[in-house]
Amino acid sequence: MVGAKESEVVSMNTLTTNLHLLFASFYRPTKQRYKIICEDTIFPTDRYVLETQIRFHGFDPNKAIIEVAPRKGEHIIQEEDILNTIIKHGEETAMVFFGGVNYLTGQFFNLDTLTKAAHDVGAYAGFDLAHAVGNVPLKLHDWDVDFAAWCSYKYLNGGPANIAGIFINEKHFGLPRLGGWWGHDKETRFNMKKHFSPMTSAEGWQLSNASVIGVSMLKASLDIFDQAGIDNLRKKSIELTGYLEYMINYHANKLLQIITPRKVNQRGCQLSIKLVDTNYTVFDMLSQAGVITDFRKPDIIRIAPVPLYNSFQDIFYFGEQLRRVLY
Ligand SMILES: *Cc1c(COP(=O)(O)O)cnc(C)c1O
Repeated sequence: MVGAKESEVVSMNTLTTNLHLLFASFYRPTKQRYKIICEDTIFPTDRYVLETQIRFHGFDPNKAIIEVAPRKGEHIIQEEDILNTIIKHGEETAMVFFGGVNYLTGQFFNLDTLTKAAHDVGAYAGFDLAHAVGNVPLKLHDWDVDFAAWCSYKYLNGGPANIAGIFINEKHFGLPRLGGWWGHDKETRFNMKKHFSPMTSAEGWQLSNASVIGVSMLKASLDIFDQAGIDNLRKKSIELTGYLEYMINYHANKLLQIITPRKVNQRGCQLSIKLVDTNYTVFDMLSQAGVITDFRKPDIIRIAPVPLYNSFQDIFYFGEQLRRVLY
């Protein structure tokens, strides 16, 4: 699912908890190198992680967080601007941290390029893949990403608050960390002896044992992904999302503006539309018609035609409802 070696991934805790645990290993700022570069529309909890981690280490978030924003009048972030920001802050940069797919705009960043740029200035590259995992193709190991984390309850269908996942590049298995008994060497875990001796894998970052009910639910979902095949899902996703894009443009034209990138390799199956000069009850009326979308204040509707369970007929129906609602 994420393009990792088996040893590089593990299911544990929940997403925000895991980000803090990963930051404990990957964010150890010095006076020379303490900045974190992220996108300006970063998901709130991720921003809270950054702020509190920075304060925890005695630094000032206003100086340490460097946000890259879209250019004036644009909605998606130009890759060139990210790369220039990384170069500009160069040796002061401790980490480049982005949402792999931005939750608001659906922009899928080129994680390969961002990782290389981070490494070029001597910084780590870490990603929140909450909206990427199960949605877009990922090759974390080949891209040489340092670490990543995701939750299992968006595209992975694990159910709300279910166990989350992390990736740690195998070259970092020796990093210091915050430890717990479930990360201890399996052979001697139950000997209940002193002294922490972690597994030399991502498993060595686990703290506690996991809920059997939670992991069973996640396993049931992942088995379906295996059966369907992630490549098949991506192929259908591209067609389905393209059809949705066509439908929106056909029916809405100037009333709604799609802000998600047009290029297929810069997006997954989410299209975010900005309501332009139209009534704001569009979302409620779509809901009443049985179309489940998502509304983000003040003016963005997110629509995700998920290839695992949405059909082309669903999109057609959506188009019909959109037309009825708008005119
Ligand atoms: C959904 C989501 C979260 C949720 O965090 P939890 O710790 O699971 O509540 C965090 N970050 C991003 C980017 C998300 O999309």
